[in-house]
Amino acid sequence: MRDAGENRTQGASEIMKNIGVIGAGQMGCGIAHVSALAGYHVHIYDLSKDRIEGALATINGNLARQVSSNKLSDEDRNSALSRITGSADVNDLAPMDMVIEAATEDESVKRKIYAQVCPVLKPEALLATNTSSLSITRLAAATDRPERFMGIHFMNPVPLMKLVELVRGIATDEPTFRAAKEYVVALEKTATVAEDFPAFIVNRILLPMINEAIYTLYEGVGSVEAIDTAMRLGANHPMGPLQLADFIGLDTCLSIMQVLHDGLADSKYRPCPLLVKYVEAGWLGRKSGRGFYDYRGEVPVPTR
Ligand code: NAD
Repeated sequence: MRDAGENRTQGASEIMKNIGVIGAGQMGCGIAHVSALAGYHVHIYDLSKDRIEGALATINGNLARQVSSNKLSDEDRNSALSRITGSADVNDLAPMDMVIEAATEDESVKRKIYAQVCPVLKPEALLATNTSSLSITRLAAATDRPERFMGIHFMNPVPLMKLVELVRGIATDEPTFRAAKEYVVALEKTATVAEDFPAFIVNRILLPMINEAIYTLYEGVGSVEAIDTAMRLGANHPMGPLQLADFIGLDTCLSIMQVLHDGLADSKYRPCPLLVKYVEAGWLGRKSGRGFYDYRGEVPVPTR
């Protein structure tokens, strides 16, 4: 994070100025936030006006928090906000130089989005996905520009997490990869390169651990509190695995485990039935108010 007062508009590339973000959820908000701070003009697209208004309010609140903790000046916050627009009209993505899709982790949803968005984009525009686990090559094949398509995988919460995984599909060309890398550098983040295998690097390692924590709960080895305390204090993790699962979103966790299970055909990736049950109940973690913890009161309370 730069010191308050430093000019943040230097980061944006001379060639790539306008970044589109599809999906105004937790990741879309974060990507819009850091891109605008780095000097890019950002347009967020989601299905409804309400979603967009909610996202703009969230970004505003998150930038305000950075100002109050002296990580950002008021001037930089205002200028970042002035660079963010949003709408529920896909045609507004037409002037974008690069569009990052951060919609729900569901292949059929993403395919439908590409079918809608590709005809609107400039032929030379880059299209990237923030998918946590899906095959970049397969998603690329659902677009009209596989050579200008790749994975740019941010970590949650985007403004705080330094890493971005870059994933080429089989057809991704070098100028696209270079442009994505320059973009990550402009955001002052660190890129690592992962091959296009299910869940890439971070989630290939992290999600089986979270799934195992859920099995540990399911089998009654420990309570939610015991498991999270054990991993926080016993493995020095900043967050317990069940707290982290709630933070990621249990639907996203389940979807990543299913991709690992299907893609690698190994029973060690079998999603825990308790995770399936929570998702079926609509208990998706923080974003829905309840998951392994109930967030509706003053302090989170374990649900088991
Ligand atoms: P989310 O549920 O918070 O947000 C998803 C958004 O997509 C919602 O606002 C929804 O309205 C929108 N959406 C759904 N269908 C759409 C459509 N047809 N057109 C436009 N918008 C549509 O999800 P999230 O946690 O922000 O995850 C988004 C993506 O980022 C997923 O691919 C996920 O795997 C990936 N990701 C998530 C995390 C995480 O920790 N949550 C981390 C890295 C990557």
